[in-house]
Amino acid sequence: MIHELSEDILYDTIIVGGGPAGLTAGLYCARAKMKTLLLEKGTLGGQIAITDLVENYPGFPEGISGKELTLKFKEQAEKFGLHVVRKEVSKLEKLEKELFLHLRTGEVLRSKTVILAVGSNPRKLGVPGEEEFLNRGVSYCATCDGALFDGVPVAVVGGGDSATQESLFLTRFASKVYLVHRRGQLRAQKHLQEKVLSHDKITFIPNKVVEEIKGGDFVERLVLRDTKDNSLSELPVEGVFIFIGLEPNTGFLKDILELDDNGYIVTDERMRTSLEGVFAAGDCRSGATGQVAVAVGEGCIAAIEAERYIEDKL
Ligand code: NAP
Repeated sequence: MIHELSEDILYDTIIVGGGPAGLTAGLYCARAKMKTLLLEKGTLGGQIAITDLVENYPGFPEGISGKELTLKFKEQAEKFGLHVVRKEVSKLEKLEKELFLHLRTGEVLRSKTVILAVGSNPRKLGVPGEEEFLNRGVSYCATCDGALFDGVPVAVVGGGDSATQESLFLTRFASKVYLVHRRGQLRAQKHLQEKVLSHDKITFIPNKVVEEIKGGDFVERLVLRDTKDNSLSELPVEGVFIFIGLEPNTGFLKDILELDDNGYIVTDERMRTSLEGVFAAGDCRSGATGQVAVAVGEGCIAAIEAERYIEDKL
């Protein structure tokens, strides 16, 4: 049961975003024989597509690469007829009981319900050199770019699960990994902290922020400022990987439904947003935990609630 992209179809649900939450919602909706379409503007998998190893998703005791897990999610959803289309949504509207999704390419799709699983993007440091040296030493994805830094020193910025986990991954390539964090205490899960702090290739640099990224053709060094005494120092590195959290991809939704102060979509425990017929799941949702297992669960709830909404209200 394949539903091609068509302006003539009134879909039961359109899912926006193809990470774990969106693909799970897609699996449930397609399996429930709803007229379903999943729109993804970039790469399927969202944040896990750029995660080297997912160690805490149940069912994979040895861990599984983010890419492989995404392929499994996709394969399972497509087996039940989910149709995935590469398109970007620029606007969501509601007229009477119908929802309208405007695509960047001009088409307008109609649906009874919408499931927003738009995820989030890496936060930027916003310092001089960050944009200039993008892809010339500055990266937000160790899985994508780590191998380019074979045998040279790199810095990782951040103190959360991503920064610590990706620091460990980068030790496969880099001669040295400097973990630069703005506080003295890492935020990451304890077992990741322990691994990082005891690793002979990783040096933890606490209480420093990056003031500037400098270099010639490629990154050559970071200017660091000490958060305690404001002193400046330089750290010679050939790459800098920035993992300082995520920002939700919800800019196109701000005028139509309730977002929290940080731009995340507010829902109730049934994944219902402030706009009737619209549900949200995964990392774009207010209170998101950034866990694949949670995103999958929320995608499942959103799909069941969308089906229930159509039965009860339309
Ligand atoms: P995060 O948990 O929000 O951590 C962001 C880190 O960056 C914090 O240490 C923060 O410092 C620092 N930071 C924020 N803004 C900064 C700035 N402007 N300059 C310098 N440092 C800054 O983000 P994340 O590590 O990307 O993780 C996102 C979510 O995904 C989390 O919920 C995480 O648990 C989850 N995740 C889970 C796994 C896993 O389960 N294995 C792996 C990766 C991610 P402070 O500590 O001072 O606030």
